[in-house]
Amino acid sequence: MSIVKTDNLTFEYIRRDEDENVSGITTAIDKVNIDIAPGQFIAILGHNGSGKSTLAKHINALLTPTEGTLFVDGMDTSDDKNLLKVRQTAGMVFQNPDNQIIGTVVDEEVAFGPENLGVPSEEIWQRVEKCLKDVNMYAFKDASPNKLSGGQKQRVAIAGVLAMKPKCIVLDEPTAMLDPMGRKEVIETLHELNKKENVTIILITHYMKEVVDADKIFVMDSGKVVMEGTPREIFSHVEELKALRLDVPQVTELAFELRKSGIRLPLGILSIDELVKALCQ
Ligand code: ADP
Ligand code: MG
Repeated sequence: MSIVKTDNLTFEYIRRDEDENVSGITTAIDKVNIDIAPGQFIAILGHNGSGKSTLAKHINALLTPTEGTLFVDGMDTSDDKNLLKVRQTAGMVFQNPDNQIIGTVVDEEVAFGPENLGVPSEEIWQRVEKCLKDVNMYAFKDASPNKLSGGQKQRVAIAGVLAMKPKCIVLDEPTAMLDPMGRKEVIETLHELNKKENVTIILITHYMKEVVDADKIFVMDSGKVVMEGTPREIFSHVEELKALRLDVPQVTELAFELRKSGIRLPLGILSIDELVKALCQ
């Protein structure tokens, strides 16, 4: 079964004036059909306003469809009685770690989610220990979150979601506020969780470097999914991506330019190693 599946998912933000009359409608998601298998590492790309955050909020049932349906692990998110289970199945991590960290000590922060779910306290502390180890933050369990770097805070936020044993984690630009080191730590952590714990990862990001190792990429534009494929398939379309106001990884761009100037290279080169090999052949 799919972990996330949509059927013509459509969402409209409706603006109203002082008299409650509709003054404008923005179709943020427009008949989207996606199907994500459990255990996949998914990346979602798209320029500002393309609908990525709106889609993410649907997966966590923070928003429900105006039209169409979204299923999380087979549960219809529009059905109120699925709400808690949906939120536990698909955890969410936001851009700014400071807005999602509420505890004063790291381990209490991670315990917060399972406490709310009514998990017995002995099991809570087992989960806290495991999740902090999973994100390589166990050494900081007694630290105050506000003493941590941005990358460390984000990893604590991820541990807090993990402690609720989600099958899927949706991350909405989790590295946007981090330095390059912090970004690297977070992305490596996500790949590790994906491989070792088989947690489905849905990563929204602007950084092309962060998506080259994904299993699949969805590209959004104006509320629609306009491209879908492996990183190699997606990055073989440099010109289309540029038309969508998206970058491509630096090395992909370099290979693309070399190819245009007549050097024989395959499309969709994703790493320096690949480029070197291709050039030496
Ligand atoms: P992204 O995350 O890709 O930048 P969003 O999902 O935030 O895109 O936004 C999609 C569209 O919906 C944009 O046109 C945006 O202006 C609009 N939008 C987002 N949030 C709201 C809101 N709370 N009220 C009205 N319109 C919104
Ligand atoms: Mg957004």
